[in-house]
Amino acid sequence: MDLLEHQGKKLFAAAGLPVLAGTVAVTPAEALEATRRLGLPVVVKAQVKTGGRGKAGGVRVCHTRDEVEAATTEILAMTIKDKPVEAVLVEEAADIAREMYFSIALSRADRGPVLVFARGGGADIEDLARRDPAALVRRPVDPLLGLCDYQVRDVLAAAGLPRKSYAGRALDATVRAAWNLYLESDATLIEINPLALTQDGVVVCLDSKVTVDDTALFRHPDFAALAEAAADEREARARRAGLAFVELEGDIGVLGNGAGLVMSTIDQLAAAGGAAADFCDIGGGARAKVVADALQVILSGGHVSAVLVSIFGGITRCDEVARGLLQAFAETSVGVPVIVRLDGTAAAAGRAVLAEAGLPGVRVAGSAAEAVGMAVAAARGDLPPSAPVADAVPGEEEA
Ligand code: GDP
Ligand code: MN
Repeated sequence: MDLLEHQGKKLFAAAGLPVLAGTVAVTPAEALEATRRLGLPVVVKAQVKTGGRGKAGGVRVCHTRDEVEAATTEILAMTIKDKPVEAVLVEEAADIAREMYFSIALSRADRGPVLVFARGGGADIEDLARRDPAALVRRPVDPLLGLCDYQVRDVLAAAGLPRKSYAGRALDATVRAAWNLYLESDATLIEINPLALTQDGVVVCLDSKVTVDDTALFRHPDFAALAEAAADEREARARRAGLAFVELEGDIGVLGNGAGLVMSTIDQLAAAGGAAADFCDIGGGARAKVVADALQVILSGGHVSAVLVSIFGGITRCDEVARGLLQAFAETSVGVPVIVRLDGTAAAAGRAVLAEAGLPGVRVAGSAAEAVGMAVAAARGDLPPSAPVADAVPGEEEA
């Protein structure tokens, strides 16, 4: 579960991490009311779950009430990386002397948490990592030992802040508080970018990115409300439908049964020059309704130019999947090519259902590999027109 910036900052504040006062607003009037309480200058920030808001114009420092009103109006009208902005955070503005980067993330390669600190930070940590690797401190943290004093000292040294200085102590306390929060909230990511040093030598978290392990949510009943508020409409819908759904950045919607099949399909698409728009696993034994829900969730993303349905039927019946596609077409205007690969249980029956229905834009591929090629071509808009669905399917034995 990914939290919005203001939700993460609430956890930060409760855990003793330094944050500035701020309020969420969904109208310019609310932003002005918040400004009255906070005092100028303020920062108006888009609350969407994506990075790069700053670059997209979704973060504005405002020195007058007119600027607050204009910035709020403009930011609320924005869509950043396909995510419509529904709220802004109005926060006291910091007078930044230096932007630093700090994160603790669960790292697959390290099989545990890794702390990363960079003395320069702000919007371009990836750049910094490439340009000046020495400016980065990267320390795996043993989950049993916890964060060690020497690791905190490494961070202070990289920051160039003496341990006894006011800012040094503040950074020390911040790093420890972040580690405690990481453990106690069962987070898999706590990222503070920028972690700023202000002109008065104060350390403050200007941004927050927090991901909580979904499988640990049962240990945090207090996060239930966060989960509701944090889920965007698509995530919530996918969760209700019982789908494992992860949005990705490409334009080919992927629907399959089983995580392994979906992941290998995504890899095959990439190898063939395409890019998946999502990871969508309908699971085993899915009924038509789940398939229909899945297709609708995939299409609701708005950046999908083709859909690839890859089913290897075991307990999942291909005819049931085909009926799900029919249902989705009946309920929604699909409007993009849908490439279908059906193999395994009741594959022939499934193809027969599709051939009979003759759904517009639906093409049945003879193999998984062919389906991938067709999906990539379809997304580019150069899938050659085909014979009717029934003719495109080579005769195959039902598994
Ligand atoms: P992101 O681009 O989505 O990561 O959004 P951030 O919250 O990190 O903000 C982007 C940039 O806006 C930061 O790197 C800062 O340079 C700037 N910024 C954010 N808050 C403040 C603030 O309080 N004062 C000033 N002067 N700049 C800020
Ligand atoms: Mn940031």
